[in-house]
Amino acid sequence: MLPYQTISEAASALGRNLTLAETMWFNYSASKSDYVLYCHNILFLFFIFSVVPLPLVFIEVLRWAGFDRYKIQPKVRLSLHDMLNCYKDVMWMFFSVVGPLQLISYPSIQLIGIRTGLPLPSGWEMISQLVVYFLVEDYTNYWIHRFLHNKWGYDKIHRVHHEYTAPIGFAAPYAHWAEILILGIPSFLGPAMAPGHMITFWSWIALRQIEAIETHSGYDFPWTPTKYIPFYGGAEYHDYHHYVGGQSQSNFASVFTYCDYIYGTDKGYRYQKKILKKLKEDTNGVQNGGSYNVSTVDLKSD
Ligand SMILES: [Zn+2]
Ligand SMILES: [Zn+2]
Repeated sequence: MLPYQTISEAASALGRNLTLAETMWFNYSASKSDYVLYCHNILFLFFIFSVVPLPLVFIEVLRWAGFDRYKIQPKVRLSLHDMLNCYKDVMWMFFSVVGPLQLISYPSIQLIGIRTGLPLPSGWEMISQLVVYFLVEDYTNYWIHRFLHNKWGYDKIHRVHHEYTAPIGFAAPYAHWAEILILGIPSFLGPAMAPGHMITFWSWIALRQIEAIETHSGYDFPWTPTKYIPFYGGAEYHDYHHYVGGQSQSNFASVFTYCDYIYGTDKGYRYQKKILKKLKEDTNGVQNGGSYNVSTVDLKSD
């Protein structure tokens, strides 16, 4: 809740007129408690996971010809019924685990020092904090994910996320409830290290979820803007991890590729890419459609 009653009060406290964005923020947030603002995340999550994967569902079900060539595992096709079942499971998980977790985790946000007042952060401040959040989350997630691939972690927890050997957008948060809770920790570490404004925090949660939907989309679109982000893994990178499944020792990172490179856990993936490239050359440009034809490469090379 803002400590000003009117816009002119806020302007005199800042020593300048409010920008358009600040005026909009004032009008929206002045009478709302910080707790209510924080809980907006729940609505954003429900909205993002309901809407963002929809184009992928249409592409998968309607089999629009132009998109088939971008399907990473073209032999695997899910029906509308399968995808809606996945959506139902994910929504139940949100309702029973993620939502309540958000409702009770507000004290951690207070402790971290996420602010809701004015002035709003500059674009530069927001972008630099978001970069830190992504890097911290990626590094921490890498080690937790790698740990979950030991026998106990996989059998008891992580196996659920790997039920989709050819992932779909709706399956991005499809996981055991314990995995949802554990992976909440890396999401909070970045904001704890570089606390920012509530708008930056909202943006972080939203962008991270959209990124997860993209990496689980099952399609490798060449025009996606994320192709321009240095060291970004993307759909094909994570799809390979799902394809190999429980015994995978490759591609643990959630966002970038540098952790797998540094710690040597991308050897199987790189070897497989090399083999596919060679096959393509040998068949004189005949398309392999990006399918994983060499199914045991990951196991042999690690
Ligand atoms: Zn995994
Ligand atoms: Zn995954």
